[in-house]
Amino acid sequence: MISKELLAILACPLCKEEVHQEEDRIVCEACGRRYPIRDGIPVMLIDEAENPRGAKNNAESKDESAVPPGEEF
Ligand SMILES: [Zn+2]
Repeated sequence: MISKELLAILACPLCKEEVHQEEDRIVCEACGRRYPIRDGIPVMLIDEAENPRGAKNNAESKDESAVPPGEEF
């Protein structure tokens, strides 16, 4: 169980927004990413987060690397 005090200081590492607990997940209010809770400790890592749009069954999901177009030297 995550205490309110802990939730209050937690923030999404991506957008720095508040998070809330949803069953065994920490959910970002802004981007909707879901962070796992392991052994009662929230894992606030982007790599560990479930993308809100990323369907688990979608095996062909590609990396959404945010590379801006152009900008070549
Ligand atoms: Zn977020």
